Amino acid sequence: MAKLKKEKAKKGRLHIESPLMGESLVSKKFLKKTEAQEYFRMHPDINVLKIGGQSIIDRGRSAVFPIIDILVEAKDKHKMILMTGGGTRARHVFTIGIDMGMPTGVLSKLADKVSWQNAEILSVLLAKHGGVKIGHGDNLEQLTMFCQLGYIPITYGIPPYGYFEHPAEFGSIPPHRTDCGAFLLAENIGARSLIYLKDETGLYEDDPKKYKKGERGNLRYFSRISARELLEMDLDDLIVEREVLVLLQRSKIIKEFQIIDALSHPGDILAALEGEHVGTIIYRD
Ligand code: ADP
Ligand code: MG
Repeated sequence: MAKLKKEKAKKGRLHIESPLMGESLVSKKFLKKTEAQEYFRMHPDINVLKIGGQSIIDRGRSAVFPIIDILVEAKDKHKMILMTGGGTRARHVFTIGIDMGMPTGVLSKLADKVSWQNAEILSVLLAKHGGVKIGHGDNLEQLTMFCQLGYIPITYGIPPYGYFEHPAEFGSIPPHRTDCGAFLLAENIGARSLIYLKDETGLYEDDPKKYKKGERGNLRYFSRISARELLEMDLDDLIVEREVLVLLQRSKIIKEFQIIDALSHPGDILAALEGEHVGTIIYRD
């Protein structure tokens, strides 16, 4: 704990001397000194699983039900929180908002409701197995408790920036969407792991969906790559939000995350939870 020198002045007023007193909190030299030796992890046993909106939930029963079965199987052994993407409905509401010239923060507010709908769907499907939908408030401090009691907490992935969302480098789509939300939560609760459930085996040099089946084999595949290398490569398209790579490079706790194909191989969820290398791992340099 920072050394606080408390002095009672003659008139009985309390003066507190603190190491941050009078600092601008901008100086780089000063900020480096605020690095903790070891960051505290609130939920070190919790795995954060982000379930894709477009890649999984929008595909309906055939994609979602096998994943639900695996999550129920995993629950007794692994603590987890599920976070949901938005998917096609989020893209539709973005289209309407963009057409009307809505700023990024408004688009963010529109999309969080869609991600919330998907959290609602999962909480209904998992209700009889202890699925419980939670918001972004104090419940997040109770995640370990929920899991210990046999619940599966579920929340939406859009981080609560709303009107405070950052401007995007290009265009107006909010740069921090549900992949970022999952990352930020995992980092700040000190999660055990962060796993993205999508519909491709991981990261390729380009979106495999833009290529015919026969041509996909020619695409370079990355089973393990650092966020720094990937940012330097500046690929046109990625399987995770680009901003997640920037966040990972700055992270204090989360050292890597995994992207798996939960559509074709739902069993890979268990493998990933067991720490096996399935799909693509992106790590911090
Ligand atoms: P989610 O619904 O999980 O947020 P998205 O549809 O937003 O998923 O992103 C996953 C999709 O990204 C994949 O289905 C894939 O088609 C696409 N994609 C784009 N670029 C790449 C890439 N370089 N490697 C692999 N997949 C990519
Ligand atoms: Mg996405």
